[in-house]
Amino acid sequence: MNLSPSDLDKPISDLYMVGPIYAKRLEKLSIHTIRDLLYHLPFRYDNFTKISDVQNLTESETSTIKVTVLDIKNQFTKFGKKLTKATVADQTGQIDVIWFNQPFLTSTIKKNSQIYLSGKVESQGYKQLLSSPDYETVKEINPINTINPPIHTARIVPVYPETYGVSSKWLRSRIVPVLNSLTAFPDFLPKEIISKEGFPTLLEALIQIHFPESFEKSEASLRRLSFEELLLIQLSSRLRKIAWKKEKVQKIIKVDQEKIISFIASLPFELTNAQKKAVKEILSDLEKDTPANRLLEGDVGSGKTVVAAIAIYAVCQNGLKSAFMVPTEILANQHYTTLKALLEPYSIKVGIVTSSKKSQEFDVVVGTHALISEQFKTKGIELVIIDEQHRFGVEQRGLIKSKGINPHLLSMTATPIPRTMALTLYGELDLSVLDEMPKGRTQIKTWVVPKEKRESAYKWIEKEVKGKPNQAFIVCPFIEESESSETAKAAKKEFEYLKTNIFPDLRLGLLHGKLKSKEKETILQQFKNGELDILVSTPVVEVGIDIPTATIMMVEGAERFGLAQLHQLRGRVGRGSEQSYCLLFTESGNENIIKRLKILETEQIGSRIAEADLKNRGEGEVFGTKQHGKANLKIASLTDREMIEKSSFWAQYLIKQSENLDKFPELKEKVEEVQRKQLIEPN
Ligand code: ADP
Ligand code: MG
Repeated sequence: MNLSPSDLDKPISDLYMVGPIYAKRLEKLSIHTIRDLLYHLPFRYDNFTKISDVQNLTESETSTIKVTVLDIKNQFTKFGKKLTKATVADQTGQIDVIWFNQPFLTSTIKKNSQIYLSGKVESQGYKQLLSSPDYETVKEINPINTINPPIHTARIVPVYPETYGVSSKWLRSRIVPVLNSLTAFPDFLPKEIISKEGFPTLLEALIQIHFPESFEKSEASLRRLSFEELLLIQLSSRLRKIAWKKEKVQKIIKVDQEKIISFIASLPFELTNAQKKAVKEILSDLEKDTPANRLLEGDVGSGKTVVAAIAIYAVCQNGLKSAFMVPTEILANQHYTTLKALLEPYSIKVGIVTSSKKSQEFDVVVGTHALISEQFKTKGIELVIIDEQHRFGVEQRGLIKSKGINPHLLSMTATPIPRTMALTLYGELDLSVLDEMPKGRTQIKTWVVPKEKRESAYKWIEKEVKGKPNQAFIVCPFIEESESSETAKAAKKEFEYLKTNIFPDLRLGLLHGKLKSKEKETILQQFKNGELDILVSTPVVEVGIDIPTATIMMVEGAERFGLAQLHQLRGRVGRGSEQSYCLLFTESGNENIIKRLKILETEQIGSRIAEADLKNRGEGEVFGTKQHGKANLKIASLTDREMIEKSSFWAQYLIKQSENLDKFPELKEKVEEVQRKQLIEPN
């Protein structure tokens, strides 16, 4: 096989020994092209480097041996299971090997052949036994190749994210020939960066991340690949910022300060100082002739909606329209109601667009993603607000612009992101932060509930909600990133169990994403009206339910959620004046897991939770995988401050050298590729 660098963009099915069946399976791993396969990185390695003598094998230790097969045959066990039994030997001794349910092994592993075996040694009576080891026939070495066998044993072996029918072994055997065939492989990183940072070249990095000679080399490769990922993201957002700063809006908005003041005065509460500051920043954006691109970051309950409503009001005073985009129908309905209450007294027409509803005439329209395709064709939309921005793809501005309008854009998120991270991910956005909660909010009492306290916790919940206006959410464990039938099934099961066994005297409802939108609405309405005591739900309730009488949030399998996610769930209660509670159930006895969850017992502010989690865990999933949108970091970690700073420094440096990167054509091409990917619409 011979590949040129341009072949990497060909579909994976073009690769030798990958047919349509595997191509289909690989889609599940987001591998569509040959390049995607190369960038499908191991998540860990098995260290099978040390080759032992059969005579010196140590029990329950992972070992690798190089042996001759003396005998191999299939047998049936007493219970009808298929068993492959082999006897192997080196100069020092012999040992028995067994595999279960792999009868084909008798045709892959031939008698008298030489093989490597890697696995754990068990003792069976006085004899030792190797059970289900990884195996690989000893093959000849081809000196032309960079990577030679063994590739599954007797080395540092990569272990990959797998999917049905695609094992790490299969992936290794396809990645090796690709790496071996790439001889002339251009590196898009400027030479200056490579040498100053001491990075391996791209080809070297790819080789060493998949089949490292040492852990130092895989580490260095990971650093280089993280760097390039962060650099491309930074460059792409900086270039975007430079470009849109040159654009002009359709109509310049005049903000009527007096009207704004009286609108704010008519609100049932006083704005917090943080809200006032954000309003000021947003209104001054609106008066400019370049389209705004601002991110409003504020904890759950910090009052982002009303800030958005004020901006909408200002736009309407100019006879112009606004659109308010949200990720779910539930949220669309809720914002529709909120905005109607706030704006209709000023004769502002509020519309809604979801898969089941569609208003024709409006001054402001609330809707799900359906909005982009539908109403954005309407002339006169000068302000687009995107709520729960992290749920959408990264590049909304380009997406909206591609629909033929170029409005001011205000994105809102409750994801607590420290400033450096925000600047990396959303470098082209201006930032406003609501770092203050409205007055009079009570703290939500939070407890981590270990399994031995489960019964008494259930009793306590019953006492709290029975015959009182108080209500509880019970959120089922996080199973998959998006709502699947699996998730729905689990919630249903839990619902039935709780209804019959735990809370037979209470009124329970069930909410999950597989319900029809009418059914969802009915359930929520019942809960809102107080006709239900407990709402059992999948994690879909995470966003945007506002039910002031809900005072208990109970989360099942809390250890499976990110802290930020749990914090958002908790934000569903404590919206009224009653004392509210959050109960985090976990079956885990792991000290570190409990310690991590307990952060929520003392911390109530999102950004501090993120930071505490960071300190506690060093790095990793502070934000939970689903927190940062689709076009997201594959390799680099958002918590890798050093790499973020490095990439930010170089991004700035390169743009100074050449504002549109024309001096670095290979890099420019890569950046444009990233930008195109970020434009892909979320589903
Ligand atoms: P989020 O930032 O999570 O979107 P919301 O906009 O839904 O928060 O606001 C949460 C609740 O707080 C709403 O019921 C809203 O009316 C109320 N609220 C907003 N601002 C204030 C304020 N300054 N004082 C008191 N209550 C407020
Ligand atoms: Mg909100």
